Amino acid sequence: MRLRFVVSLLALLASPAIAGDIEPRLTLPAGNHAVALTFDACSGAVDERILDELIADRVPATIFVTHRWLKRNASATARLLAHADLFEIENHGENHVPAITDRPTVFGLPTAGSLSAVSQEVTGGAAAVTAAFGRSPIWYRDASARYSRDAVKLIGQLGYRIAGYSLNADVGASLPAAAVSKRIRMAKPGDVVIAHINHPERPAGAGVVEGIKALLARGVRFERLDLAFRPPTG
Ligand SMILES: [Zn+2]
Repeated sequence: MRLRFVVSLLALLASPAIAGDIEPRLTLPAGNHAVALTFDACSGAVDERILDELIADRVPATIFVTHRWLKRNASATARLLAHADLFEIENHGENHVPAITDRPTVFGLPTAGSLSAVSQEVTGGAAAVTAAFGRSPIWYRDASARYSRDAVKLIGQLGYRIAGYSLNADVGASLPAAAVSKRIRMAKPGDVVIAHINHPERPAGAGVVEGIKALLARGVRFERLDLAFRPPTG
């Protein structure tokens, strides 16, 4: 029931993109004035600048990891595990493959190309998260943050919510630090912010840290997706 509601909500919020893709927008439930920080760990390394800041100021965050990233970042995984009170770990796929079924590439990335490949990407990523963190993920975000319509339906049937966002902080860690910081400082209550935690070699991460510090100074409260979307108890 709840899942069906979320799926129809996503369909309602989705804006049509190229070739009928869905690029879901996500904000926190109405009345929640926190900001959700979500970070993608696609492949590559870990940005210690961001991880250090989150831990130092006890900022909760939701981190989407791929199996590919987990295999290469054992010590970062250990740090995430050591701060399980701060970090919710969710599924960014097995090999960072976009959930697109109707064409071979998107943004230069090879797509899944079929529903069976989408299924393998989702379930492979989920199994890796469960193995590493001892908790099954409930959210899925694919490699391009856009999805074919049949893939959206399948991911819902597999039991996962699709994690869109409402504020793109770093555009794939491609922006200069000042631009990233400015975008994060513009966060409004209820925003779900997306940024990347796997590019320590780029300037964007410094802007993420600056932006978070500015929001903290403003008294903004941060909340993870699992807690923000927790069903009411009692
Ligand atoms: Zn990614």
